[in-house]
Amino acid sequence: MKDFSYYQPTEIQFGCGRIKEIGEIVAKYGKRCLLVTVEPFPALEAVFEKVKGSLKNAGVDVAHFTGVIPNPTTESITVGADMAKEHKSDVVLGVGGGSSMDSAKAIAVEATHEGTCWDYLFYKEEDNPISAEKTLPVIAVSTTSGTGSQVTQVAVVTNPAEKDKSALYNPIIYPKVAVVDPELMLTVPEHITASTGFDVFCHSFEAYIHPNASPYIDLLAVESIRLVVENLPTVMKDGSNVAARSAMAWADTLAGLCIANAGVTIPHGIGMAIGGMYPHVAHGEALAINYPAFTRFTWKSAIRQFAVLGRILDSALESESERIAAEKSCELLDEFLKKIGMWLDLKGFKMPESEIAELAKASMRLPDYENNPKVATAEEMLDIIKDCYSRG
Ligand code: NAD
Repeated sequence: MKDFSYYQPTEIQFGCGRIKEIGEIVAKYGKRCLLVTVEPFPALEAVFEKVKGSLKNAGVDVAHFTGVIPNPTTESITVGADMAKEHKSDVVLGVGGGSSMDSAKAIAVEATHEGTCWDYLFYKEEDNPISAEKTLPVIAVSTTSGTGSQVTQVAVVTNPAEKDKSALYNPIIYPKVAVVDPELMLTVPEHITASTGFDVFCHSFEAYIHPNASPYIDLLAVESIRLVVENLPTVMKDGSNVAARSAMAWADTLAGLCIANAGVTIPHGIGMAIGGMYPHVAHGEALAINYPAFTRFTWKSAIRQFAVLGRILDSALESESERIAAEKSCELLDEFLKKIGMWLDLKGFKMPESEIAELAKASMRLPDYENNPKVATAEEMLDIIKDCYSRG
């Protein structure tokens, strides 16, 4: 068996109604909390109020930063970090989707270090180390399923001036505690359910085919993929189905554990480039845009895993050879994308065709593409992006 390591320092509190424990949880880490969320709106306003009430009851003083934006920018993080400094916060609580949880992590670093969070991206660590002593503890409450950010050492940030989307990646920013309360996800609208739910699938599948995958990752990833295939279409039809929302929340958490310990591959490299150049494209949408090209490019180099995927998508493939099951998985995944309303292309997001070459180049900026079972050359990447441009 392959040697492997597995690390996960985040305490996971999973279950319906667990949000009521948030005050006691945060109080273990600090007495002055920066609550980090999007601007209150009907679906989540009551949740934010409940959180503030629970913090108050536990004797925790709260400052509420409501400036999180989807695909958080460096500017938005600086506003939050300034607020944390002014409030003298000693703990940061992110409540929301990946954008809110990632903002909480980036604020925890920027509020306690020189410069901005952009100075602490994963590839700048040698020059600018993140200090474990200084960084504020982070608690994460997920309200989407999702990015898995509640259990990862990653904070994704966009720098509009550089048209770049990149990440802080450091074990210091693992949340101390993740509260995963599926009841908080009942209000997620259908299209966000689809795009975040597909992100869960991508995390699990890319970790499964990653060179760092291990028997442990296989276990988590296959279960997560199975849960998404079974439950995402159900929650899209009926967002109030607590059992299916719970299954998606668990799949999301498993997927987070997968990416924290293995990683992602070429679709995320492309997806991050799309997000950097076209911030109006949601992360899950950016992934759906490139999956059909990615599966065709990759399946022959990861037949075992693509065959497992094919058989999860269609159990009739159990009686076929691995190779046939693997090849068929590409079409079956197209069907799944259509079923969840995620059959998307770049043209549909008004990307100028003249920018295809620039996007292909940007897709090779992050090391993710090098971890694909088949590593794309610059020419192959260009072909993949051309394929993503229009799906007819
Ligand atoms: P998001 O956090 O941007 O949320 C999307 C929208 O859904 C927002 O408008 C939000 O207000 C709304 N929303 C959230 N919860 C809701 C609820 N319960 N009811 C109704 N509306 C709700 O979306 P996301 O996909 O969760 O996060 C995307 C971000 O996370 C991107 O920046 C992406 O790059 C990043 N990401 C991070 C990691 C990681 O490990 N840190 C992994 C993957 C992606």
